[in-house]
Amino acid sequence: MKLSKLASGIAESPTFALNEEARLLRERGEAVINLGIGEPKNKTPIAAVLASAARLTSGEVKYTPPDGLPSMKKAVIRYTEENYDRLVAPENVIITNGAKQSLFNIFYIILNPQDEVIVLAPYWVSYNEMIRMCTGNPVVVTPEDGTFTPRFEEIERAVTSSTRAIIVNSPNNPSGAVYPPELIGKIVELCEKKGIYMICDDIYHKLTFDGNTAVPAYHFSKNDVENSHVIVVNGVAKLYGMTGFRIGWAVAPRDLVRVMTNVLAQTTSCVSPIAQAAAEGALNGLQSVVEALRLHIQNNRDVVLQEMRTFNGVRLIPPAGTFYILPDIRAFSNNSVEVSKFLLKKAMVVTVPGKEFGMEGHIRISFAGSVKDVTEGIARIKWALDSTSPNEIYIGDRKMIRDWM
Ligand code: PMP
Repeated sequence: MKLSKLASGIAESPTFALNEEARLLRERGEAVINLGIGEPKNKTPIAAVLASAARLTSGEVKYTPPDGLPSMKKAVIRYTEENYDRLVAPENVIITNGAKQSLFNIFYIILNPQDEVIVLAPYWVSYNEMIRMCTGNPVVVTPEDGTFTPRFEEIERAVTSSTRAIIVNSPNNPSGAVYPPELIGKIVELCEKKGIYMICDDIYHKLTFDGNTAVPAYHFSKNDVENSHVIVVNGVAKLYGMTGFRIGWAVAPRDLVRVMTNVLAQTTSCVSPIAQAAAEGALNGLQSVVEALRLHIQNNRDVVLQEMRTFNGVRLIPPAGTFYILPDIRAFSNNSVEVSKFLLKKAMVVTVPGKEFGMEGHIRISFAGSVKDVTEGIARIKWALDSTSPNEIYIGDRKMIRDWM
């Protein structure tokens, strides 16, 4: 089979691949626990269910404008005003098939071959692949001090005449780090000075703990949205646990939105009105659902930290947001791919190798699921790796004995 150079260079999504592996194991009757995928376990908020059901029963399920239903855009405008303190026009908003499509289309419209995008490690797996798909080069900045927060000077040093954007994801997948406001402010200033875009992937922006807040980049920009270099990407997947509806959006200067709309219209035409109605229902409905989800996640986070305390050899920076931890497992192995494979084989627990996020020697554990899965999953990981933990464990109804150390 002859594939294009571009396509053959694109890696499989490791989280989806692992998810599939877990599904197949479960189908075979194995007691797999999936701590790999970042997906809250909640049911769809009722306001979203009712709104999409109403749309469906109306029988009016046709193409929508490629930049989104006016009523959905209105909901995003309100959301932006309430959460970002920014008044934006409908021309500044585009609704997309997930936040992923917003990100891809942004890269597609701003990158020429070999243009650079600065990506801050640890980073979400898809950025680098998307940038390459759009013929650009990801330039990774890795914190040198062992934390998950890059130093501003390291970012500034990475800017060249080919830099077109810096992508910032705080709260961060996979580390759970929330970047300090001063860092966000300095990146905004740098981008505006250099005329490069700051793409804020805000998909976890309300999922923060212990009074930490992710201060929006807009707060540091004196420019209105039209003249700003800040682009905000968000969606309903994580905050409302509506991953399957595939609704995201971008807020950006209107010239960018116009071109993104052309790309969307020529590739996927529009976003399903049933899914848009659901997202509109979620955004306009009771916002206590977000707080309920956040509390559930925070409770899981507390359980995780409690369990990890007795995990000998693992170094952990507690997460300030999201539903991930990224423990340092170098006391056991430097090879995170091997460790993740080992954990799946021996302990039937799915984790994601840190290598995929530009952080070798770590594994990502998602605590988005049920508290039972999270507790049991971490107990199994401890059993498999930590020789000081009890050497017997039940996996499903099978009693297992650790016989490899
Ligand atoms: N950005 C980050 C950092 C994510 O973790 C995810 C989902 N895993 C996305 C974007 C994609 O969101 P969506 O499902 O809306 O495409």
